[in-house]
Amino acid sequence: MAAQKDFEIQKTDAEWQAQLSPEAFKVLRKHGTERAGSSPLDKVYEPGSYFCSGCGTELFKSDTKFNSGTGWPSFYLPIEGAVETTVDRTLFMTRTEVHCAKCGGHLGHVFNDGPKPTGLRYCMNGVSLEFKANA
Ligand code: FE
Repeated sequence: MAAQKDFEIQKTDAEWQAQLSPEAFKVLRKHGTERAGSSPLDKVYEPGSYFCSGCGTELFKSDTKFNSGTGWPSFYLPIEGAVETTVDRTLFMTRTEVHCAKCGGHLGHVFNDGPKPTGLRYCMNGVSLEFKANA
């Protein structure tokens, strides 16, 4: 779960629920995971940026996106300072959870089996992201 810290953007569950789709609320605020292959963003490779669907912060550039074959949108590098991580020990695994640095919304997990240059694989829920193509 996201760390117990004060994020710049703070809302109650009721406020988030009013703003977000049920799927986005479940993932962003309740640490859910969307079904693999369910996000249209998994197959998007146009030039543009990916923003937090909770607060609109720019999180990833399209040139760091790659096809991981997992069914989840995957990136090898976030925009500097845009995301933070915590240790996630749920589901009998130790994983590194990734959340938006500004609103604390859960985005996904990061693994060490990504491509060069970072070797990282940010495995993101598409419902936590909003894509905007470059103008
Ligand atoms: Fe956010």
